[in-house]
Amino acid sequence: MYRHDFIAPDADDEDTVVVQLHTLQSSSVREDDLCPITQETFKDISEDREVVFYEKRPSLCIGRLACNHCFSMIALTRCFVLSDMRCPVCRAGVKFKAGMRTVPVHLRRELEVTKNRLREEQAREDQRVLQDIQRSILEEDMRETELTLGWDGPGFAISTPMAEGVSSSEVRIVRIVMSTVSRPRV
Ligand SMILES: [Zn+2]
Repeated sequence: MYRHDFIAPDADDEDTVVVQLHTLQSSSVREDDLCPITQETFKDISEDREVVFYEKRPSLCIGRLACNHCFSMIALTRCFVLSDMRCPVCRAGVKFKAGMRTVPVHLRRELEVTKNRLREEQAREDQRVLQDIQRSILEEDMRETELTLGWDGPGFAISTPMAEGVSSSEVRIVRIVMSTVSRPRV
C-alpha cells in the first residue's frame, strides 16, 4: 500500500494526514465515478498524464482519506495546501494547511503561484472591506453632524442656522468630507 503524508508546518504528529495512494485498478472507485473536487471521472484523471502527483509513479493518482472519500491526488493536494487538510466532502481531518515541503517538488511551483495570487486577492478584498467600514463610519459621523448642525442637505449655506460654537470653516470641512464620501467608488 502506497501512502503520502501531508504535514502542517511547525505542527505536532497529530497534525499529519495520511492519504492512501491508489491506481484506478487498486482503488474502490468505479471508472465513471466523479472526483468530488474536479467533477472529472476517475478514468479521465488516471489517463491524464500532463499533471501527475508522483512523477515516477503517475498511475498513483487517486487518494483515499481515512474517511474513505476518494479524490484526484492533484486536486486534493491543492485543497490541502490552499485551504486546510480536511476532507472536502465530510470535513473530517486536520484544520491546518499542509506545508509546502510535504508536496512533491514538481508540484510546488504551481501551488506557490496560486497561493500568492490568492493572498493578493485576499489583501485587495480586505482593503475594500476596510474602506467600506471607514466610509460607513464617516457617513454615520456625518449624520450625527447634520443633526447637531441642523443641516438638511447638500444645499447647505452659510446662512443655515448653526449650533453654537461651530465655525464656518468647520462646516466647510464637513462639506468637503461629505462630498468625498458620497463620490461613487472607482
Ligand atoms: Zn470524507
